[in-house]
Amino acid sequence: MPDERDEDSTTVQLGLTVKAGRGAVVGESDTAEQAVAALRHAGMAVERLQAEEALARDDLELVLVDSGDARADADIIAGLAARGVQAHRLNRDGTGVAVGRLHPSEGVGVAFSAAGGAPVEADLWRRFLAGLPPNYPRLQAWVTRHAARVRRQLPEQDRREGFWRELLGGWVAEAVMAGQEVSADAELERQLSTRGEKTSGSVFLVGAGPGDPDLLTLRALRVLQMAEVVLYDRLVAPGVLDLVPPEAQRVYVGKRRSHHAVPQETINQMLVRFASEGRRVVRLKGGDPFIFGRGGEEIDQLMEQGIRFEVIPGVTAASGCAAYAGIPLTHRDHAQSCVFTTGHRRGDGSLQIDFEGLVRPAQTIVFYMGLSGARALAEGLLAHGMSGEMPVALIQQGTTLNQRVVTGPLRSLETLAEASRLRAPTLVIVGEVVRLREQLAWFQPRGGEGPFWAD
Ligand code: SAH
Repeated sequence: MPDERDEDSTTVQLGLTVKAGRGAVVGESDTAEQAVAALRHAGMAVERLQAEEALARDDLELVLVDSGDARADADIIAGLAARGVQAHRLNRDGTGVAVGRLHPSEGVGVAFSAAGGAPVEADLWRRFLAGLPPNYPRLQAWVTRHAARVRRQLPEQDRREGFWRELLGGWVAEAVMAGQEVSADAELERQLSTRGEKTSGSVFLVGAGPGDPDLLTLRALRVLQMAEVVLYDRLVAPGVLDLVPPEAQRVYVGKRRSHHAVPQETINQMLVRFASEGRRVVRLKGGDPFIFGRGGEEIDQLMEQGIRFEVIPGVTAASGCAAYAGIPLTHRDHAQSCVFTTGHRRGDGSLQIDFEGLVRPAQTIVFYMGLSGARALAEGLLAHGMSGEMPVALIQQGTTLNQRVVTGPLRSLETLAEASRLRAPTLVIVGEVVRLREQLAWFQPRGGEGPFWAD
């Protein structure tokens, strides 16, 4: 990041409280332009004036000056100050006041100034922070709706502030933004009647997406960052786990090499126990929790125990891998439908798959499962009439820097799977659309095995 900071100047951020009256900006520079926008945003009626015009007026609350000539600026400011008008010189050559750009969220103004550094730095920050919750106004309206009553019931300011801090620091703010006002209202009532007892616990079942942490939803990111306990398994990529706050407790509930996974029943009980202790619990699942994720089973138990929960969808492996491999799952000329399926292994090791339902014209098939089923898969599809020439793609660790994609005809699926030595997790896509990758492959990581999830 270029840094144009002057060695011996520092920027101190100060807030200027203005009345919604009249203001003026003297000068033609970009800085003057930005100042006009900022004051307008603050509700002032702003005019661009020449120095003499500004000095002749007696109805101005505030004047910001950047005429391009430091001496002239100083004279104008002195003249205005002598008449009791608040006037400041805009930043130039490392002195003067800087006007930050405002993030236009309701009620709270966030200003961005380059703090003496490159303006691009401030612009980047502004773009990142634009990811602030778009549903934030819902939360504001909710707080406003209850404010008067809370003030009546908790007249002492300290108690009241503590009450709001506890309430909004927990799951309630998320619930309101997710449109769960009913349970938020109930929690507010509960806390008012218990006089600010700790907020009850809650479980967020969160889709971690297929690997690339940038594919998390805004809500998933916020919830992760306020988690107190995170239960995760093998499919959650390390880049996503890095977003969990260091002070949160992490509990691995997946399989370890040559060990069994923690049984589902134990996971369900852990979720109940942590939430009953009043903690904010996140159950992180690879991809989407409701697609081959047993998400339904986990919340069953929470429902029974009356524990509050929320489900946050994630980008499922099929759409993540397909997008990053350049394989559109549907296409006007090649596929009008697409099925996501997985194979259950029978006692004798064979796969239980409804091949009949899968082998249809113009249908893409996505198999969620390890490579070990490749042989049975190919045999089943061929036996049900699919052409041996049908293109297939194997996608290893899709959307990450370890992504590898191997393609070939269906009849050589097994050899492809064996020869390519792909690592889990791997997804299989079968269908004419696989050919489109030849033109559409855009994600070409330089490779090298990056840090990845355990197999
Ligand atoms: N709930 C998850 C799927 C769990 S089933 C989701 O919505 O994506 C596990 C299977 O998903 C793996 O065996 C593999 O086939 C597939 N999978 C998940 N993430 C993957 C990735 N990044 N790359 C390739 N396959 C993936």
